[in-house]
Amino acid sequence: SKVDVRQAAELIRNSGSMIAFTGAGISVESGIPPFRGPEGLWSRYDPQCLDLDFFHSHPKESWTAIKAIFYDFFGKAEFNQAHRVLADFETKGLLKALVTQNIDNLHQMAGSKNVLEFHGNSQKMICPVCDRLYLPNEVDLNKLPPRCIHDGEVLKPDFVFFGEGIPENAYRKSLLAARMTDLVLIIGTTGEVMPAAMIPNEAKRAGAVIIEINTEPSNYTHRITDIFLQGKASEILGELEKVIFPKK
Ligand code: NAD
Repeated sequence: SKVDVRQAAELIRNSGSMIAFTGAGISVESGIPPFRGPEGLWSRYDPQCLDLDFFHSHPKESWTAIKAIFYDFFGKAEFNQAHRVLADFETKGLLKALVTQNIDNLHQMAGSKNVLEFHGNSQKMICPVCDRLYLPNEVDLNKLPPRCIHDGEVLKPDFVFFGEGIPENAYRKSLLAARMTDLVLIIGTTGEVMPAAMIPNEAKRAGAVIIEINTEPSNYTHRITDIFLQGKASEILGELEKVIFPKK
């Protein structure tokens, strides 16, 4: 409701250390569906292409699906107003860090700087032997699997596969940010994927206020959320922006 938006805007304006925690829902309006559900990617592709063991034993088969999902499809998506507002909040000093479970690079494309990539980033590839990073335009995806030009090793998209650990740096910094913050803005996540899902819980335990934006209630809504703003991420963030930074 309008009252909730105004109340949330007030809390955001007065926060000194707000962080955001985002999930697949913030990119739905950019045309990227969540993985699960009837419209989800796993209704069209086999998730085993992102299983680490399968990837190593079947690099060509995995890469055929990976190319279709993450380069032919994700690679062409554009950020939406929700990503844009979060980048503006950071520029204006309101948002200190953005913890994302997304791997689509859209926060970075919108201009967010302090992005903690909990699950990595699909728009980079890494050589598992020499750690060299490649951008999609530096790699010939007409010949699969792509290989490192230095040692011939099969490249891996630089995001967390099933069976793989969370990048240490992002994990540590996210936990730290969660424990220091006074306000978490949760946007578009079910809160089902562990250990990422515990970031807002950690913040709540340390005393933070929780504001949540989602089209539907999530795991957090009735447990830790103080203000639930039901609706599409781009619309709600657009409303918040108007209240916080009214145009003269
Ligand atoms: P999820 O798929 O489990 O849940 C998506 C959430 O977004 C739901 O709660 C849904 O109600 C909400 N939602 C849908 N449309 C919305 C909108 N327009 N505005 C606001 N909310 C909306 O997503 P998750 O919790 O992030 O977990 C999925 C996992 O899969 C993540 O860990 C992520 O790494 C990965 N994933 C990433 C992408 C991406 O990079 N864009 C896409 C799909 C999955």
